[in-house]
Amino acid sequence: MDIDFTGLKFTGKVRIELTSERDVVLNSVGLEILHVTSGQKNFQFKQSDEELTVSTGTFVGTLVVDYKGSIPDSLAGIYRAPYDHTHVVTTHFEAAQARRMLPCVDRPDVKAEFKVTVRVDKDLNVISNMPIDSVKDEGEKKVVTFQKTPRMSTYLLYLGVGKFEEQRDKLGKTDVIVAAIPGKSKLGNFALNEAKKAIASFESYYGIPYELPKIHMIAVPEFAMGAMENWGAITFRETALLLDAGSSTRAKKRVSEVVIHELAHQWFGDLVTMKWWDDIWLNESFATFMSFKVIDTLHPEWKVWDDFLRMETSGAGARDALKNTHPVEVHVNSPDEIEQIFDDISYGKGASILRMVEAYIGKEAFQKGIQHYLTKYTYSNAAGDDLWDILESTSRQQVKKVMTSWIRQPGHPIVTVSLNGGVLKLHQERFLISGAFERGTWPIPINMEVNGEPRSLLFEREDEAVDVGHISSLRINLNRTGFYLVRYLGLDEVVWKSNLTAIDRWGIVADAFAFLLSGIMTFTDYLKLLTRYLQEMEFLPASEVSDQITFLQLLLPSRMLELSREFHRSQLRILQGKTDENSLILRGTVASRLLFVDDDYADGLAGKFKEYEKVEPDMKQAVALAYARRTGDYDGLVKAFRGTSSDEDKTRILNAMTAFADQTLLKRTLDFAVSGEVKRQDVRTTVLAAAGKPNAQTVTWAWLRSNLEKLREFYRGTGILSGTLLGMIPILGVGRVSEVEQFFNELEMPEAHVGISAGLEKMRAYDRMVSSIR
Ligand SMILES: [Zn+2]
Repeated sequence: MDIDFTGLKFTGKVRIELTSERDVVLNSVGLEILHVTSGQKNFQFKQSDEELTVSTGTFVGTLVVDYKGSIPDSLAGIYRAPYDHTHVVTTHFEAAQARRMLPCVDRPDVKAEFKVTVRVDKDLNVISNMPIDSVKDEGEKKVVTFQKTPRMSTYLLYLGVGKFEEQRDKLGKTDVIVAAIPGKSKLGNFALNEAKKAIASFESYYGIPYELPKIHMIAVPEFAMGAMENWGAITFRETALLLDAGSSTRAKKRVSEVVIHELAHQWFGDLVTMKWWDDIWLNESFATFMSFKVIDTLHPEWKVWDDFLRMETSGAGARDALKNTHPVEVHVNSPDEIEQIFDDISYGKGASILRMVEAYIGKEAFQKGIQHYLTKYTYSNAAGDDLWDILESTSRQQVKKVMTSWIRQPGHPIVTVSLNGGVLKLHQERFLISGAFERGTWPIPINMEVNGEPRSLLFEREDEAVDVGHISSLRINLNRTGFYLVRYLGLDEVVWKSNLTAIDRWGIVADAFAFLLSGIMTFTDYLKLLTRYLQEMEFLPASEVSDQITFLQLLLPSRMLELSREFHRSQLRILQGKTDENSLILRGTVASRLLFVDDDYADGLAGKFKEYEKVEPDMKQAVALAYARRTGDYDGLVKAFRGTSSDEDKTRILNAMTAFADQTLLKRTLDFAVSGEVKRQDVRTTVLAAAGKPNAQTVTWAWLRSNLEKLREFYRGTGILSGTLLGMIPILGVGRVSEVEQFFNELEMPEAHVGISAGLEKMRAYDRMVSSIR
């Protein structure tokens, strides 16, 4: 490729060695094809949709395509990522976007070796998957040639051009490198150290060394996702890789989690790839599950399995309780469909099921199976079945039956437990947030503890009876490794007399919230249950209860304000003396919530904004929120936004600016978010933040209606809008269901269809719950 860095266009020449039984069909979008040749032969070609058909007939040899293209301000394909009045040129190809940079067979199962050569201005750096092989000067320009990659999929290719600055380190023979825009690479030191430790952990767990001579971790100034696992050249948004002195503990945990997730992919996804996007969960669930495993060994004090339950398992459960869910393994075809399955099901549900299966067959058999699988399919592709076969043979347990059912069936079960004359009765059916009952069975590996004794069974039918005799204590779904809800009927006293762990207490209240939404628990019973948590001492259940109260406060302010004040005040007292990192995070969250229901407290926090620099990192968000809420100083906050170069700080201030009590200021904030001054990547978080603020729903909804086309433009070619609407619609729509339904029903928006349908269903459930309580 010859890249015109300032003119933002390029010419390219791709040579593909291939064999074809009929006319060659390549993928290509937005490229101007100049000619297609082979040796002296010039071929006719035609372009339609995303395909370039070349009239080769049967073909064996090297096909050469000459083409040119431009570098837009988008977030997919090859694009311009601006900063400080200049830019870098970067790529993001997953799922079907490599075709925007080069004509190719853009499918994950068609792997090839790539040799990349780029001609650029002399003063620019170029990064690709492999190390540089040679650099030759050509006048004002230079030609950079990279070493040939191993066999790999097109969606993992990478090219970055710009004034990158690097921090380098070494792990054995592997160069581990952080690259960022000038002045920022040293902020990647924490990530660099995490990466070295994590690579060593993965090498030992997988039993396969990291394959490439180097690994880049690149902070890209505009980036749609958190990060992308391009083989040997991982890209990140800045906040997922860089930390400065003002970074919060939450940001630090996130950097660790994202870095390690992407490194997990270097084996799971890059070395061994799914055959087709139907199995994208194989990539994402494994990377998610494996990353938590490794973080837990690196930072046991973080108790990241608590985060796993709250973020992955619970998030996926909420999505999976809709009729508008999909099986983990889902049939997809068009790029629009593919982009929209990078969701809670492919990540969280899949990962939770892997955790359940690991608990069922044991850690050793699981690890052995994974090693065998990766070795067998190295540089190749595999499907889910290939993995079950291996896990079944390493464990001699019924893995295939269990996995097939959980992966291919949509939804998940609720297990109702009751006691009748010394017999424990279990009943399973599909859980739906709509409150409808639907028959369904899953082979559930049940782990429980009866009177202190562990018991386990594979619960496959609708009903099961277990002889237990006299019961004095009972815990079901130990450690919450099972992806199902538990409803105890008439067993409250026994359950609460059991020796409950923090995870048990979390599970009970997390399930209760789902029962409240679906209508099988009354609001009165729910509130009664919450009284057990007012003095909660543990991070996991306390975070959960805070989330639930804050959410309900949006929909039912008059019923929740008092409780929110009481709970958050009591949490603040409990957390005052704690210094562990999770407590620091929770304290920041609690403060950010208390300020909305306690004006005196908010005034105290707001006063600290004038010395914002000195505020401890975990309290910065709360201080900014309180300042916006209590002063309405729009101009002051915009000035603060402009005055910082840290994306973390910018997003904190934007979040604060959605908390103005004055609704005209909120509208100004939303307009500011799409004015061009805010990074496109952060528009989503800003509009989502607005939807989640007290009394902000009417203004945010009106704004969304008239600005939806702009959001569409920002996120074209990605699944971002789909996820954003799924987050916003349910909250904005309560109290105006038919208006919202009508608006979206009249829209033609295939790239967000999945999120919209799911969002509307969730909205109806929330609305029903609210009307039943008011
Ligand atoms: Zn991933």
